[in-house]
Amino acid sequence: MDTIQMVDLKKQYQHIKSEVDKAVMDVIESAAFINGKPVAEFCSQLATFLGAKHVIPCANGTDALQIAMMALGLQPGDEVITPSFTYIATVEVVALLRLQPVFVDVNPHTFCMDADKLEAAITPRTRAIVPVHLYGHTAPMHQIMEIAARHNLFVIEDNAQAIGADYGFPDGRVAKTGTIGHIGCTSFFPSKNLGCYGDGGAICTNNDALADTMRKVANHGQSVRYYHDLVGCNSRLDTIQAAVLKIKLEHLNRYIDARRSAADYYDAAFSRNPKIAIPYRANYCRHVFHQYTLTLKDVNRDALVEFLAEKGIPSMIYYPVPAHRQKMFESFGSESTYLPTTDWLTERVISLPMHTELSVEQQDYIISNVLAYVNA
Ligand SMILES: *Cc1c(COP(=O)(O)O)cnc(C)c1O
Repeated sequence: MDTIQMVDLKKQYQHIKSEVDKAVMDVIESAAFINGKPVAEFCSQLATFLGAKHVIPCANGTDALQIAMMALGLQPGDEVITPSFTYIATVEVVALLRLQPVFVDVNPHTFCMDADKLEAAITPRTRAIVPVHLYGHTAPMHQIMEIAARHNLFVIEDNAQAIGADYGFPDGRVAKTGTIGHIGCTSFFPSKNLGCYGDGGAICTNNDALADTMRKVANHGQSVRYYHDLVGCNSRLDTIQAAVLKIKLEHLNRYIDARRSAADYYDAAFSRNPKIAIPYRANYCRHVFHQYTLTLKDVNRDALVEFLAEKGIPSMIYYPVPAHRQKMFESFGSESTYLPTTDWLTERVISLPMHTELSVEQQDYIISNVLAYVNA
């Protein structure tokens, strides 16, 4: 049996090696390292895949969020509502732009923003909502968009963990995550569901004016070279990364299927165990399983992590400290925010190895060890 990893990027590469090697060499031969042809080609292919009008490339997922917030013209002190149960980038950019993060608790089953608690967090200073499609499960976008419309707020989807996930509206319409809010942000960090071989990110929108502004923001505030209309930043997707992404995008549906099958296999093994809650799949969501995350009941989670590590099984806690308890936000007074579900989940979640190359043999080994510990 191969060594078990949280994400097996090496094995995934071996299956597409000849395609990728050629594409990367072609970029090197062309010497068009910045803004080479593959960048625009990839963005247009991703736009088609997602059903989005515009896809704007950038350097990473954190920049994508920052560029989105800069383009919306938010002013210092404006409030932005986010979950605290997320990767720090979601909230960090809010603080970086001198905006005020306001945390909303998550739903204990979906791990995503609890739309029923959203309205209570809205104040006259609220300008935007940033739902996160955590672990590959979609946030309840229908409710969030409805509340946002009523209060005239922008919605920026943090789609870094859920590219390719489908959201089903009550009227039967289906849309890809990242295309439902005013802006969708994603990351191509290597371990993400569509990962490149370094850093990368993208922003999508159906709004022409916003797309123009975001392109400018990402390019030093210019659309005509050396004429800078606004203060922006420098955030680009390298041509080599775009060349890799073009190839991996063609395999994305297959990669999602592989993750979903691995999740089904785990589910079947864990679903009847009273101490384990398997990842919930809301009926409005086609989950893409960026992570396979269990919620444990009456199990010493940290001891389980150690037990698995001794057996050669990696596992991860996403995330050991929620944003509102991070030192970086001490000055925001956010630690006193009452987020009981976020705190409860933080103590109980555990993510098991999940990637496109998991074998049944590896999963059987992981499952038997998890169950051996939990049932002991
Ligand atoms: C990975 C991630 C980001 C940031 O992406 P980078 O490319 O690492 O900057 C933002 N939000 C979430 C939820 C993420 O998982």
